[in-house]
Amino acid sequence: MAYDPKTGKGLGRFYDADHRAFKFREWKGLKDTLYDYGRWMYLYCFMAAKLGPYAPQMVKGMLRYRWLVPYLTAANMVDRHTIGQRGKELQYSHKQFFSVLHHSVIKVKEIMQRDANLNGNSKKAEALRNNTVMFDEMTPSLIMMGFPTLDWIDIAMMSVGMPSEVDQNSCVYYIDAIEHFGLAPDVCPEPATECGVAVTDDYPRVGKCYVTSSMPCDGAVQQTALMTRYLKGVDIFQITPPQRINEPEVQEYAVKNLKKAIKFIEDEMGVKWDWDAFWKNAEMYNQMAECMIEKWDVNATDYPQVCGAALALQREFEFMGAACMDKYMLKTDLEVTKMMHKGYEHDSKLGVNKPKYRCIVWACPAHYYTNFANWADLCWGVRCVNDMEAMLSYLPITIGDKEQALKDLARCYERMMMRSHTNGGYVNLLDELWKMCDRFNVNIVIMYDHVSCRNVGGLHGLFEDEARKRGIHLIWVPHDVMDPRTVSRREMRDAFNKYMINVFREEPLDPTLLDYEDNLSW
Ligand code: SF4
Repeated sequence: MAYDPKTGKGLGRFYDADHRAFKFREWKGLKDTLYDYGRWMYLYCFMAAKLGPYAPQMVKGMLRYRWLVPYLTAANMVDRHTIGQRGKELQYSHKQFFSVLHHSVIKVKEIMQRDANLNGNSKKAEALRNNTVMFDEMTPSLIMMGFPTLDWIDIAMMSVGMPSEVDQNSCVYYIDAIEHFGLAPDVCPEPATECGVAVTDDYPRVGKCYVTSSMPCDGAVQQTALMTRYLKGVDIFQITPPQRINEPEVQEYAVKNLKKAIKFIEDEMGVKWDWDAFWKNAEMYNQMAECMIEKWDVNATDYPQVCGAALALQREFEFMGAACMDKYMLKTDLEVTKMMHKGYEHDSKLGVNKPKYRCIVWACPAHYYTNFANWADLCWGVRCVNDMEAMLSYLPITIGDKEQALKDLARCYERMMMRSHTNGGYVNLLDELWKMCDRFNVNIVIMYDHVSCRNVGGLHGLFEDEARKRGIHLIWVPHDVMDPRTVSRREMRDAFNKYMINVFREEPLDPTLLDYEDNLSW
């Protein structure tokens, strides 16, 4: 326990209302401090090695694109998620987060190599652009499994999604920009930020065509329409997975839509879909999904291992951004899975590290507070054993059967982020939650109450009624996904504190974490 009742010193002392970074590094004992600091150094050395050769573009890029600057604070993001952790838990988190940042740094490098805004008339950059497909944040690039000679970059993930999780204030400028153009301030800040990046002309120009999807919510529909106008001269394809995904009759349509997307990429890029490459990549996808299911199975026991954002964010980036084709991520998955089994054996044999309370996280999370579940664990002993963000498609792709494999791939798109749950209707959003509570043996749900998302908000009362019937504690934590000005991190903690104090009559494990100011911090 990081709190010392004798001295009254706890983890809250690292936060400072006047500074963005932690006041000082946490002493975790010699071995863990050395490990922690070594990982910190390794991350910055890795960034220097990969991005150093593109120093002129990086400098130009930071002057041109506001979203690029937060990447410099990536180590602070890891620190936020590893504060208070020791031993194997610390190692799981570092490995999981490094694989996410490893992927992001490589993608930033690819942007620097080919961006038309940063590379002037470079023929080399132009050739790279002509071989690259651009993607939207909410569209996994899994379709690229069959195009081994092409590159792809998720331009919104790199300029909106990732920076918003690294620095809580990274989206504010873009939200203000689009609101000055007349957008109502109650629109979800996620599509609003993406539109803000467009109207400030802050998207990198890195590809020949653009693949997006149909997110069936008001904000995202509007974002797609705006991007279509913004990306003048770039052809666009919209993958439109069915919304009611449980009905078998819609699957035929989903496969037809995917086939059209394949044709679009073939025509635009002048290449052919390669089944041999697809089978190879699908095997990698299956291995990654298997690792995630193993993590779930262990977390369903009394001795969960890889918890909170370390589980959820890694899966989100692996599936959405890297399309399960990142060899480094697979290596990390296999390594962490092995460590996790060892950790489970140790804990279950000795009967140690059982969480005081178990919970799962449901509904759209706050990008600006991805370490909220870590805080809940440290402050109240409520450990998050699974998160809706990690519950993307996990069923295998059938190898060798072309029609079935395309059906399986379509299912991946149907179960991508913010789709099957958030936008998938009552059965997928509400009924699925109770199944997960049973599977993970939890009676607490951190319900992220995204104040601008009508989809989840519309079912608020039904959630309450059903939870009451089942004796499940729904702790509603309001937030505004990418705009910390609407609901601050402090206010999110306050909502949770109130429930723990008034309903559970609990005492915090670390009272210094109950209330502190971190509005300015990254
Ligand atoms: S959080 Fe809700 S409103 Fe925002 S993009 Fe996702 S589904 Fe749409």
